Amino acid sequence: MRCFWDERQRTHKPAAEFFNGGLHPAAEHEGRVDAILAAIGTTETPTDFGMEPLRRVHDDAYLDLLRDAHDEWLAAGREGDAFPYTFPIVGRRRLGLSRIDARLGQHSFDTSTPIGPGTWEACYWSAQTAIAGLAAVLGGGSSAFAFTRPPGHHAGRDYLGGYSYLNHAAICAEAALQAGRRKIAILDVDYHHGNGTQDIFADREDVFFASIHADPSTDYPFFWGHADESIGNILNLPLPRGTDWNGYVPALTHAIDWLEESAPDLLIVSYGADTHENDPISYFKLKTSDYAPMGRRIASMDLPTLIVMEGGYAVESLGDNVASFLGGF
Ligand SMILES: [Zn+2]
Repeated sequence: MRCFWDERQRTHKPAAEFFNGGLHPAAEHEGRVDAILAAIGTTETPTDFGMEPLRRVHDDAYLDLLRDAHDEWLAAGREGDAFPYTFPIVGRRRLGLSRIDARLGQHSFDTSTPIGPGTWEACYWSAQTAIAGLAAVLGGGSSAFAFTRPPGHHAGRDYLGGYSYLNHAAICAEAALQAGRRKIAILDVDYHHGNGTQDIFADREDVFFASIHADPSTDYPFFWGHADESIGNILNLPLPRGTDWNGYVPALTHAIDWLEESAPDLLIVSYGADTHENDPISYFKLKTSDYAPMGRRIASMDLPTLIVMEGGYAVESLGDNVASFLGGF
């Protein structure tokens, strides 16, 4: 399988994130990169597909913020990574404020997703990596793996969160439609609900989104991913903490059957390895060897498939988990 990665994705180096009442070392760090690269072997560097595919998904004001926020943060006399600290609750007006703290709050939903000096560069090339993977599939390859980092599935049209800034699955779904594909299936198997992808494609008839994830009653992102949000082109399959492979398989089968009913002509997989039993921020019990049958089952859909990387924070197991999944696939 062709694998894509760009070294400029390393320029995002968050020092810390704020959750559970304190600052913690960032879980989404560069150690993940080396673990995955060591496991997947040779990678191809993407060409530059430009801003247009990003603009089909994300608002201009939001993209401007991602690019400029850290410069404005420094200009405001701050140090380190840019963090928001106040947020407009649902229903508040868009006021077009200019202070950096207001702008960060307008476009963020958590305090775990800071913007550093290299964040925009890393995000831009992560998106190009995804699009290069898609181009390989559209060009006749049966599948490709885009090692997207930072991840993407929590990012909405105009917001960041959950270590995500640009939504790679969404960018590639729109690009595939633009290239003439008629119906896109997105299967999200990260531990956390892909809230950004759901928001971006709600009420669409050309993109179907199925997500298997931890019950948001107990787990991040809390406000999305509940079963009763399964309407039309959205299927949410929340599972309890402690779910092992035996508990996971029925949901995987359900999600695949449901996606196949929509008769897609392209599959995008948001693959997260944070369902692993050793993951430091998650609570499922999948083993490394379980990712091979997961990959095989998804491959049995027999669709041109782009796999994009989402989470996975058990660095010692991460490379093996990715290799197991890609090997099975
Ligand atoms: Zn996750």
